Amino acid sequence: MKPVPFEYHRPATLAETFDLLDRYGDDGRLLAGGQSLVPALNLRLAAPRAVIDINRIPDLDAIRLTGNGLVLGALARQDALERSPLVREHAPLIAAALPHVGHAAIRARGTIGGSLALALGATIRAGRRGGSRDIVADDFFRGIYTTALAPGEIVTGILVPRAAAGWRWGFDELARRHGDFALAGLAAGARLEAGALAELRFVFFGVGTRPVRARRAEAALSGRRADAETLAAAGRALDGDLDPPGDVHGSPALRRHLARVLLTRVVGRLAEAGS
Ligand SMILES: Cc1cc2nc3c(=O)[nH]c(=O)nc-3n(C[C@H](O)[C@H](O)[C@H](O)COP(=O)(O)OP(=O)(O)OC[C@H]3O[C@@H](n4cnc5c(N)ncnc54)[C@H](O)[C@@H]3O)c2cc1C
Repeated sequence: MKPVPFEYHRPATLAETFDLLDRYGDDGRLLAGGQSLVPALNLRLAAPRAVIDINRIPDLDAIRLTGNGLVLGALARQDALERSPLVREHAPLIAAALPHVGHAAIRARGTIGGSLALALGATIRAGRRGGSRDIVADDFFRGIYTTALAPGEIVTGILVPRAAAGWRWGFDELARRHGDFALAGLAAGARLEAGALAELRFVFFGVGTRPVRARRAEAALSGRRADAETLAAAGRALDGDLDPPGDVHGSPALRRHLARVLLTRVVGRLAEAGS
């Protein structure tokens, strides 16, 4: 199948981009790495009147360390982030997760975003004509392909707080083949205090229409050592956090089971790292 014909624009500045967004409204779609949008166009799941290619806008691909944390430009490619020493040092969870995104060819074009921002307590910067606003990641993701962006806004970057001393990070996912979308995945962070876990952040993906923060499982483990009994209690609590969908790839029961497996694995590694 081929896309429905569309107009193609390649603005050189953010100001031009905002003009185009104003002109086309809902009929204009931004093109970044194209790894999701182009298949959607080809399958005619999306049929915008105009595609607005933002790849030539300068500085949107920057990876910079600032006093507030790591700033990742919206156009930073997944493979550039994977190789960045700044990301490895200050956002190790992103470095650990990126090799799981698709395949190398996809990461060479695909740009940053997603559940990691949630696990890291990141902020998404949305630019619009005449200004910008910051949206905390918890509020940003709304559902499949839906976000808190208002008409006329584009993501210009993500601010990731620097990884603080004493924190541990863990990432794992279960997929049928490496590079496939995960049946279930977990990005986790915690601080270790005298062998017990504190300030836990468990964010599951692949188990809902948006990344899911598992607050009940976090509470079940908070302030405790990760022994078998506590892990079993956290696994039961996790059932209350997740309401996974069933589809051709796996039933809700399978996804719940995989989520519990991931919880046990990742928490085990977090606790080991501190022993
Ligand atoms: C085979 C395959 C496997 C994949 N596996 C994974 C995986 O395991 N995990 C994973 O996370 N992803 C996976 N992906 C998706 C991949 O990571 C995409 O790159 C990513 O989802 C979208 O990034 P992109 O830069 O390609 O965006 P595009 O496809 O260019 O755009 C996607 C959407 O975001 C909008 N958009 C783009 N940039 C902006 C912006 N700056 N501001 C506002 N809106 C914007 C576009 O208008 C469009 O609606 C896979 C893709 C493929 C093809």
